[in-house]
Amino acid sequence: MSMSQQKTVIVVGGGLAGLTAAIEAHDQGNIKVILIEKEKNIGGNSMKATSGINAIEPLNNDSRDAFIQDTLKSGAGICREDLVIKLVDESRPALNWLVKQSEVEPGQPTLDLTAVSRCGGHSHGRTHRCPAQNGRPVPVGWKLIDTLKKKFTSFENIEVLTNTRVLNLITDTDQIKVIGVEVLKKNPETEEETKENIHANAVVLTSGGFAGQTGKYLPDGKSSLLSEFAPQLIDTATTNGPWASGDGVRLGLSVGAEMRDMVTLFFFFFFFFFVFSNQFYILGPSSSPSYWFH
Ligand SMILES: Cc1cc2nc3c(=O)[nH]c(=O)nc-3n(C[C@H](O)[C@H](O)[C@H](O)COP(=O)(O)OP(=O)(O)OC[C@H]3O[C@@H](n4cnc5c(N)ncnc54)[C@H](O)[C@@H]3O)c2cc1C
Repeated sequence: MSMSQQKTVIVVGGGLAGLTAAIEAHDQGNIKVILIEKEKNIGGNSMKATSGINAIEPLNNDSRDAFIQDTLKSGAGICREDLVIKLVDESRPALNWLVKQSEVEPGQPTLDLTAVSRCGGHSHGRTHRCPAQNGRPVPVGWKLIDTLKKKFTSFENIEVLTNTRVLNLITDTDQIKVIGVEVLKKNPETEEETKENIHANAVVLTSGGFAGQTGKYLPDGKSSLLSEFAPQLIDTATTNGPWASGDGVRLGLSVGAEMRDMVTLFFFFFFFFFVFSNQFYILGPSSSPSYWFH
C-alpha cells in the first residue's frame, strides 16, 4: 500500500482499552494512529487495577465451563451469556497478547503474569498479576500500562496527545459517518486552552466509565451520568479517578449510539486498610482478597 492510501485512526482515551486499540490499529499496516488523552498522563483507571486479569488457568484445574458458570452466577441473572462466553474464550488469548507486547526479542517477554490468586466469586485461582519483586508487590495495572505504552510509543507513525480532551465528534454532512473529533488542548504551562478539529477515517471511543464523578453535577455544570442512572450512589465514595466522567457515553449518544445496562454499576463494599510489605504499602479495596488468598 502506498503512503497516499494511508488511513488515520483516532483513539479517544489512554487506558488499557485505548492502548490495546491503538496497537491493534497500528498493526493493521499503513495506518497513522493518534491516541488522545485528556489527562496529563495516560493510564486512566487501568493504572489503579491491583488484583489482576482473569484468564482460564489450567494449572489450577480451571476450565472454560467453570469460568463461564462462575461469571453467570456472579452476574445473578443480568449477564448476556454470549458476551460471557466471549469474555471467557478470549481471556487466555488476551493474557498471551499482553505478554507478547513486552517482548524485547522474539520469545523473550519482560512482562510476567504468573502470580495467580483466587478472587471473590471464582471457584478456581485465575486472577493473574506480576510476582512481587524484591519482596515488594508490583501494581499490575501500572505495569500493563507501562508495557503497552512502551510498545505503542516505539512505533513510528503515531501521535500521543495528552492534556487534550475530545469535546465532540465531527460527522459528514449527512451526519452518517464520524470523520473526526473536536478537541480542547490545554497548555500545561500557561493553562491556555485552544480548540482544534482533527480528521480521521475512524474514531475509536475507549474513554472509560462514569463512576469517577459522584456528585450531582459535573465541573462544567452538566448533570452527572451517575445522577441519571444511579442516583442512590450520589456522594458515595469512589475508587475511580475524576477522569471517569462518562465523556465517551455522551459522545456516543451524540451520534445515535444505543446504551445498555447503564444502571448496572459495580459497587464494592470495602474498608480501607493497607497491605504492608517492607516500606511499600498499597491501599487495597478489590485487591485485598487476592493478596490474602495468594
Ligand atoms: C481501584 C480500582 C481497581 C481495579 N482493579 C481491577 C483489577 O484488579 N482487575 C480488573 O480486571 N479490573 C480492575 N478494575 C477495573 C478496571 O480498572 C477498568 O475496568 C479498566 O481499567 C477500564 O479500562 P478503560 O481503558 O476502559 O478505561 P480507563 O483506564 O479509565 O481509561 C479511559 C481513559 O480515557 C480518558 N478520557 C476520558 N474522557 C476523555 C475525553 N473526552 N478525551 C480524551 N480522553 C478521555 C481518561 O482520562 C482515561 O485515561 C479496577 C478499577 C478500579 C477503579
